[in-house]
Amino acid sequence: MTRTIWFGRIGLLFLVVSAMLSLMSCRGTNLLSKQDEIQIGKEGSAAIEKEYRLDTNPERVALVQEIGQRVLQGMRQTEGKRAPDFPFTFKVLDTKEINAVSLPGGPVYVFRGLMEQVGDDKDMLAAVVAHEVGHIVAHHAAKQISSSILADIAISLGTKGSAQKVASIATSLVMLQYSRDDEYDADRRGILYTHAAGYDPEGLVRFFEKLQKLEKSPMKGLLANLRTHPLTENRILRAKKLIAQLPNRQSPSATPGQ
Ligand SMILES: [Zn+2]
Repeated sequence: MTRTIWFGRIGLLFLVVSAMLSLMSCRGTNLLSKQDEIQIGKEGSAAIEKEYRLDTNPERVALVQEIGQRVLQGMRQTEGKRAPDFPFTFKVLDTKEINAVSLPGGPVYVFRGLMEQVGDDKDMLAAVVAHEVGHIVAHHAAKQISSSILADIAISLGTKGSAQKVASIATSLVMLQYSRDDEYDADRRGILYTHAAGYDPEGLVRFFEKLQKLEKSPMKGLLANLRTHPLTENRILRAKKLIAQLPNRQSPSATPGQ
């Protein structure tokens, strides 16, 4: 009797694992539900806000929130029905590091050091925020998590523990490294969202150029975490090409209102 049940369990696991493996062989499958992603984002946020202090400077906080909301409008316009219904949040971390991160399900963090570098160039800041929103919309982290927790999900079948296991890996999300293709995809989405939102998408190119200068400066150390966003000549060229192909592209020097 026990043996039959045990065999049944193994048989079921085998079937599920084979089904999942065949799913995973199609590149980048997201096995997480909307609620899983939101839960992971919440856990990740708690971990980040434990590690860093939130910036309370009212101007910086208001600016990031204003840009975040406008980028979201651009995202919804661009994605239409594909736009995920996530509780997006936009916060500033009080640290001199030059970085920005996003978590599945909605949280976006911009670091104070990055805001100090972009100064009053809202297009540059919008490009950074839109890139992060692009990672969330494309479920990039969720797809990576899906592949890494494949075994966990199979093992926890029948124990109702998958949501907890999913949440327990949230803390390692901050260290997550995106593939080059995911970065290109987030750049492409960010360009479309900022353009739709009425920002100058060239802000992304200006941000890349700023990073290139910083990489050669004594402030290089503050960029350590941007290794999750590798900057290559090819990435900049791709961004320029995408921007040149945008419909109704106005020259950045065009007089507003004309
Ligand atoms: Zn990125």
